[in-house]
Amino acid sequence: MESEDHSMVDAPNGVTQPQLSGNAEDAFGIQPSKEDTDMVAEEFEPEEGWEELNSVKRRGLLPTGVCYDDRMKLHANADFGHAPHHPEDPRRVEEIMKTFKKAGLVFTGPDTELLDILRNTPIKYMWRIVAREATKQEICTVHTAGHYDWVQDLSNMSTKDLRNLSHTLDQGRASLYVGAMSYEAALLSAGGAIETCKAVASGQLKNAFAIIRPPGHHAEYDSPMGFCLFNNVPIAAKVCQLEYPDTCRKILILDWDVHHGNGVQNMFYQDPNVLYISLHVYQNGEFYPGKPDNPMLPDGDLDKVGEGLGKGKNVNIAWPDQGMGDGEYLAAFQKIVMPIAHEFNPDLVIISAGFDAADGDELGGCFVTPPCYAHMTHMLMSLANGRVAVCLEGGYNLKAISQSALAVARTLMGEPPPQMGMPPLSKEAARVLARVQAVQAPYWECMRPGIIDIQEYGDGATRLHDVIRGYQRQILSQKHGMVPLFIQREALFKSFENQVLVTPGIQTKRKVLFIIHDPPELQAMPDVTDNTVDPHNAFTLDGVMNYVDWANKNDFGVIDANVPHYITHPEDIDPFTPRADEKTLQDQIRELVCYIWDNYLQLYDVEDLFLLGVGNAYLGVKVLLTNRNCKNRIAGVVNFVTGNLRPVKSETDPDLSSWYKRNSLVFVANDHACWSDEELAKKVSKKRFGRVKRSNQVGLNRMMEEHAAEVHEWIGERLSQDGSGNTTEEDGK
Ligand SMILES: [Zn+2]
Repeated sequence: MESEDHSMVDAPNGVTQPQLSGNAEDAFGIQPSKEDTDMVAEEFEPEEGWEELNSVKRRGLLPTGVCYDDRMKLHANADFGHAPHHPEDPRRVEEIMKTFKKAGLVFTGPDTELLDILRNTPIKYMWRIVAREATKQEICTVHTAGHYDWVQDLSNMSTKDLRNLSHTLDQGRASLYVGAMSYEAALLSAGGAIETCKAVASGQLKNAFAIIRPPGHHAEYDSPMGFCLFNNVPIAAKVCQLEYPDTCRKILILDWDVHHGNGVQNMFYQDPNVLYISLHVYQNGEFYPGKPDNPMLPDGDLDKVGEGLGKGKNVNIAWPDQGMGDGEYLAAFQKIVMPIAHEFNPDLVIISAGFDAADGDELGGCFVTPPCYAHMTHMLMSLANGRVAVCLEGGYNLKAISQSALAVARTLMGEPPPQMGMPPLSKEAARVLARVQAVQAPYWECMRPGIIDIQEYGDGATRLHDVIRGYQRQILSQKHGMVPLFIQREALFKSFENQVLVTPGIQTKRKVLFIIHDPPELQAMPDVTDNTVDPHNAFTLDGVMNYVDWANKNDFGVIDANVPHYITHPEDIDPFTPRADEKTLQDQIRELVCYIWDNYLQLYDVEDLFLLGVGNAYLGVKVLLTNRNCKNRIAGVVNFVTGNLRPVKSETDPDLSSWYKRNSLVFVANDHACWSDEELAKKVSKKRFGRVKRSNQVGLNRMMEEHAAEVHEWIGERLSQDGSGNTTEEDGK
């Protein structure tokens, strides 16, 4: 076998120390002796009594390791005729090693210089870790003997049989190919991972990178899967735990491959001493590896947290879709990965380093850049005394994996990660992180601030928006004698109890103000240490109240309809509930305003009916105007808008938009997006949006306060003095 990078040392068994060499061509393996490190350390010795500081220094002077063996390229597809360009290409490992050499991370000079390098600049280059074949005993720490035998048998099969087997295995979830040398390559890959992790766990090396293939993280305890034969990282983790029971008890496996490492998860699902954190695309179970055939087995969803003693030791950061990038990965590290990892406090960190989330990898479809990989590595190096072992998993764009791996290796060697800004985080990803936090909160102290278990409170918990509405009802009842208006509904929920309040004797009023508004704004100053909110540090701002007072003073009948952002259901168990979506909101509002129109307003003898829409709920104004032929009975419309601008138009009534333009006053917040460019601002001036005015204020309450006098005056001018004039014919002010 002619291969330049094949180390010719006899493979040591699993118990002996790994051999380290300064370069690829070195066939003897040189260990960094105690003398070597002492010599260097002495030069920096400041004074006596600094032993502690000195020992820290010495760890920093340990070299970074790299494990590579050309023979791992020999795992190739026997079914070469059918799929000549399989993404799990043997060149993947070679490209990474070449890139390391080109970048000067691995020594390529003559052997004669080696001794000088070892003495003078031992950490200038990566130290070579010799890959060896893993033993059956090591592999069977996580795999069944039956699975080991199955892989071993591959080396005894005929080419024809291998080709047929590859063809079969390539289908569906198994997604695998095999060849005559697959068994040997898989043994080396697992053995390389073992030696790499052991060299780091034992403290011989500062940290290390294993450039290995075939990858491992999809391989199950009893079967191969997803380009993976033996699950390298779990094997290495188990061997380290067995060989260094005192110093390597707790291990963090951080998997940033774009696919979920189902095999790793399942092998440690009940293990309290191995924390598995995976960042991967989930796509509701559609993205590989998807859901297992057995529905009882856990998949990569974020609610899969481990079982028994292992509860909380499995963290799935499951992205809703492809397209994630630096912003999402850095946020996941800052908000979830690092807080949990620090609380776990591992003795060793192993990175299952697939680079298929890298920018440029078509299979992954994500956009993680090399600087981001450097930062993630750097953060992980703050754990476990810096004992970080990186093991290659997937990643199929040769350029992307080489550059990403290079960024990781440089960081391991001590180069500071490149400066980068914090890119924006997508809303969907932010929601996923919040859900992961909520799901993990029972198991991790650091995930708890801000998470409430409302089930624990039972009937004692009332959502604040219902409390506030109850309070508003009391105030409006005391001040103006207002009472709830009966609304017939199919189901009665708490949020409906006080939803619509009216002044007494409204049916006899000549003037009526119908207010459709959002719940009042809530502001709170949470305690910065634990996120709790004291009632005395929380405030409600209710700009509507002044308008109700004004209307009552001026002898208007008032209908006050509160549109909650969410309808409280008794079976709610989620402490955080997003606002109702547009469709739900529209259905709710239509039901409400049409009921009020059909059963009350339409029947009243009102001369001057005004609509006041506040916030998101101003959708109700549009819904009423477009669903009921009522414009001739409405004297004017006033809206305060901070969110979506709603067009009012009708196919059956072509005059509706121009009527709306003439008879409305629509205040739009000063910071609204529609003012951001000329095109949009021009669009807003169209009839269907009404008479839009840019407020000089932001926020509903400040806007309502600012324009109160103007609105009062405008309404006053539109009132029919003698009850005979048709105000709707007048043009606006
Ligand atoms: Zn992958």
